[in-house]
Amino acid sequence: MEMISFGQAFDIVMSTGFRTGTEAISYTDSLNRILAGDVTSDMDMPPFNKSSVDGFACRKADLGSDLEILETIPAGVWPARTVDKGQCSRIMTGAPVPDGADCVIMVEETEMLSSGKIRFKGSFKKENIAKKGEDVRNGEVVLRTGKKIRPQDIAVMASVGHVSITVSKMPVVAVISSGSELVEPDKIPGISQIRNSNASQLMAQVARAGASGKYYGIAADDETQTLSIVEKAISENDMVLITGGVSMGDFDFVPSVLEHAGVKILFTRIAVQPGKPTTFGLHPRSVIFGLPGNPVSSFIQFELLVRPLLSKMMGSEWSPLSINLPMNEKFTRRFAERLAFIPVTITGDGHVSPVEYHGSAHISALPEADGIIAMPVGKQIFEKGEIVSVRQI
Ligand code: AMP
Ligand code: MG
Repeated sequence: MEMISFGQAFDIVMSTGFRTGTEAISYTDSLNRILAGDVTSDMDMPPFNKSSVDGFACRKADLGSDLEILETIPAGVWPARTVDKGQCSRIMTGAPVPDGADCVIMVEETEMLSSGKIRFKGSFKKENIAKKGEDVRNGEVVLRTGKKIRPQDIAVMASVGHVSITVSKMPVVAVISSGSELVEPDKIPGISQIRNSNASQLMAQVARAGASGKYYGIAADDETQTLSIVEKAISENDMVLITGGVSMGDFDFVPSVLEHAGVKILFTRIAVQPGKPTTFGLHPRSVIFGLPGNPVSSFIQFELLVRPLLSKMMGSEWSPLSINLPMNEKFTRRFAERLAFIPVTITGDGHVSPVEYHGSAHISALPEADGIIAMPVGKQIFEKGEIVSVRQI
């Protein structure tokens, strides 16, 4: 199968239409979930004209005179008296402003007279009243479908009483590691073995993407064994991620195993670095990624292709946080036929510095990185000071 550009690969992946269903959950369980129904307010906010300071509610026209105090209005109490000429009511932050008053003067700007009246010592700046409905109107949409829920969204749901919300179901994602050299991380590797770092990395990436991961263990480089794990994973999941076994080696069986499992393979090579042998296919029950065995490649291809698709499956627009910043130093590469993704750090003064990186197996380079930058096909040099777009990872 021919090598395709990263843009073509992205379009193929994103045009697979599968969508998860929806479910109702408590708003307190909704962190990182994708909203699948608008949230509307059942009231005006603020629900009444509300004092934004501790002070005295009175009439602007009276600020030059000494004012008689009618009552004290704590937060949570409705005023009993209407403020008239020459009068005021002591009021606390968050309390309803009494009828008749059109401003609240701050307690710090008043003086208590021996007569029991108060006098305004300051100069008028603002009313210090949050008007009924100025933040939100009754019936207004406060959170829209497709939004990824953050703590501040949960506060909005709480304030409008939206305690049961509709979210997209989490895609269920199988993670399989393939490679006869692999042992699990709690084991001491033999002389020709290495620890399986992809599975736990991918499980964490799946969780961060808001999906639900299920680990299926290590498949040896054996077609029959790999096929049985892959078939089981396909039958039980919305998406299957298998790492390793996709290169050109004698024991790289994954593409042929996928075909035997009834997967229609759509690509097996992308002109991208790292991650060239990334494979993608469709099964009636599931979508399947064969990711490269190298942990850096697998990490980056997940961020570039898998994460956007998971977002789409949940009905959310994919928009990674990217910022434009200048290069801290010149960066060059020898070959430019692939689109390269380079792990970078952001320095304290806002410059971009590529992390020392020996290739796609250099796993300890990634924890240093704050983001990745893309170097287009044909481009060999980023000059010092050149503006690059850093995508947060
Ligand atoms: P492969 O894609 O199977 O040719 O593997 C490419 C490289 O990645 C080899 O050096 C593998 O040993 C390594 N590798 C494969 N799978 C994993 C894994 N799960 N964890 C860490 N390294 C891996
Ligand atoms: Mg292998």
